[in-house]
Amino acid sequence: MCVFCKIVNKEIPADIVYEDEKYMAFKDINPKAPIHILIIPKEHIEKLEDIDDTNKGIIGDMAVVANKVAKQLGIDKTGYRIVINNGPDAGQEVYHIHMHLLGGKKMAFAT
Ligand code: 5GP
Ligand code: ZN
Repeated sequence: MCVFCKIVNKEIPADIVYEDEKYMAFKDINPKAPIHILIIPKEHIEKLEDIDDTNKGIIGDMAVVANKVAKQLGIDKTGYRIVINNGPDAGQEVYHIHMHLLGGKKMAFAT
């Protein structure tokens, strides 16, 4: 089972900031910004190539969770960045699809 599935199953702890029936958001263990949250579907989906017309709503739902969490953490007005690292060149480490929500400081654009 992947590390994010273990977090979903509460087998390993995480600092959870949002949870509903299908989605979860928790603090990144190695934050790259003052606010760094990971938003995941509870369903194990590895990567963007596994998104198709049957499940594309997941991406929209994750954006809605990002919006809620940004408000909850008070960065909705100052702004934030949403990142999906997909595949080796993007440096995807955990093959359970996730959105990074980064904020709380002015960020440079890095590639
Ligand atoms: P990726 O590079 O796959 O887009 O990002 C994976 C992220 O998951 C990294 O930022 C990493 O710090 C975070 N991460 C990896 N393992 C854990 C964990 O066990 N708990 C938490 N909260 N974050 C993790
Ligand atoms: Zn998983």
